[in-house]
Amino acid sequence: MTAASVERLAQVQDSIRRAAEDAGRKPDAVALVAVSKTFGADDIRPVLDAGQRIFGENRVQEAAGKWPGLRADFPGIELHLIGPLQTNKVREACALFDVIETVDRESLAVALAQERGKRGKLPRLLVQINTGEEEQKAGVAPADADAFLAACRKRWELPVEGLMCIPPVDEPPSPHFALLATIARRNGLSVLSMGMSADFEAAVQLGATHVRVGSAIFGHRG
Ligand SMILES: *Cc1c(COP(=O)(O)O)cnc(C)c1O
Repeated sequence: MTAASVERLAQVQDSIRRAAEDAGRKPDAVALVAVSKTFGADDIRPVLDAGQRIFGENRVQEAAGKWPGLRADFPGIELHLIGPLQTNKVREACALFDVIETVDRESLAVALAQERGKRGKLPRLLVQINTGEEEQKAGVAPADADAFLAACRKRWELPVEGLMCIPPVDEPPSPHFALLATIARRNGLSVLSMGMSADFEAAVQLGATHVRVGSAIFGHRG
């Protein structure tokens, strides 16, 4: 029997392909990050068996509990941290993740630069932009983005490849996706992580290179 998640994975892949074609983009220009937070290794295995290799988790501790075992069984996994990172977890996060999507403040940038000094390398990095300027949400304010990105590059020499955002839940997402794309373009960044289960097609339309899709694949989180 095929797991429901595997059927939904195929549907999401189809929708991404169609959205890319509609936008005149190559389907393989958009990577699917399957967000497996709150789901256990047994829920994730069928999706790995189906060939999916890029996954997102929002907590370091939770990822540490399930991904080392899955990595041992499946080659070529690429794991993204998509939740806030505390500076005291930087060491562990750098050991676990291939991409950290949530670089959002100076203290974290400094901690990452120090970690590179010790390890000699870092995961690939994205800077989170708080496009909705929401007080409770992490991310660099749009007005501060250029200066922060310049400091990441010159002062801390961090391997920042692009930007990510989580639009406000109560607003149409497209203006936020467009803003993220604009900030990336003027800073010469090529990676755009934007779009979730409810709005990934709109994100693909506006240039997403990575969409982060959880519940549309794994089902509702308990
Ligand atoms: C949970 C989460 C997602 C996936 O959300 P769905 O609506 O389940 O697709 C994407 N990005 C971030 C940062 C998340 O925390």
